[in-house]
Amino acid sequence: MDLKQVYFQHLYPRELIYEMMRTSPSLYRKVALSEGEIFWHDLDLLKEIRCEQEFHKKLLEHKSGQIHLGAIQSLREKTPLQKELVFDIDVTDFTRYCQCREKQVCLICWLHIEGASLLLNYILREQLGLQEKRILWVLSGKKGFHCLVNDWLHFSQQQRERLVKFIERKTIDSLREFIFSLEEEFIEKIMTIFTERVIIQRKLLDLPTFQQACLDLLLENYPGLFIVVKHQWNNCHTGVEKWQYLQQLEMRQSLQDIRPSLLVAVQCFYPRVDSKPMGLNNNFKAPFSLHPKTGKISLPVQLEKLMDYSLPFGQLGLAEACDYFARHTCEPPAMSEGKKLLKTWLSQF
Ligand SMILES: [Zn+2]
Repeated sequence: MDLKQVYFQHLYPRELIYEMMRTSPSLYRKVALSEGEIFWHDLDLLKEIRCEQEFHKKLLEHKSGQIHLGAIQSLREKTPLQKELVFDIDVTDFTRYCQCREKQVCLICWLHIEGASLLLNYILREQLGLQEKRILWVLSGKKGFHCLVNDWLHFSQQQRERLVKFIERKTIDSLREFIFSLEEEFIEKIMTIFTERVIIQRKLLDLPTFQQACLDLLLENYPGLFIVVKHQWNNCHTGVEKWQYLQQLEMRQSLQDIRPSLLVAVQCFYPRVDSKPMGLNNNFKAPFSLHPKTGKISLPVQLEKLMDYSLPFGQLGLAEACDYFARHTCEPPAMSEGKKLLKTWLSQF
């Protein structure tokens, strides 16, 4: 049997996705069904989809793996009025130190996704004051995640651009500013996670590419320490030893400035924010869509799940979900969890 048929018939949460598309007599949501590059576009489509049953029919007819949602618009003026804030975090936007090229992803470079989710959550919750229940974390299906925020829906294009400007930090000076704004407790959390997951687990400092990046950062920002560290690192056998040496040196020097190790960690982790998906006029992929290349499902997940080391290879795909359904006649637990998260998030509108 056609796997997509099984998926849309038995596993897909059409009532929840339809709720995301909901319209009133004077408003409608831009919607597109796509498969690869082909789009079936909104208004015509929406005229045909007036209830959940019709949406279901359309899904089975097109078997389009991806449902794209745009802004909610006024039917008469066709002007975009509101849309979720969408943060699209993609591992390919980071400077990576592994062997991955272009769209590849591995256990090493997933560290950027783990760190970005940690920092983005802090920025949204602690610095912008958003409530946890208004934030939905969704796997993009391959190289990262989408973070959907159902607050400030009425933000204009200008306000959205200002928000992106506030969050993005493209220079070392702006990263320093960010670090100065952090609470000590959170700084310790970043350092613990970086040391455990990046230095010990992934052995990132054993890679010459990362070593060089650290030395470059030292040379530019801590020229007094650069020569000493470069010399001592030559005598260290492992990346862990190099890291320990750097941290001991920082303690001995009792620096007034930001600790170099902290600057290294934050530069690695800081979320690279793409301004496009945030725009009022740009569509975003609805949760539970299927990735056209990998067949992975865009599942809503707990924030902690994004920090799962094995996630780049452990994401639930169409074939696996349908196989689970065939054997157990129920959905896989990861799907139930995703539906529960989406339902809770939708109830906050
Ligand atoms: Zn990689």
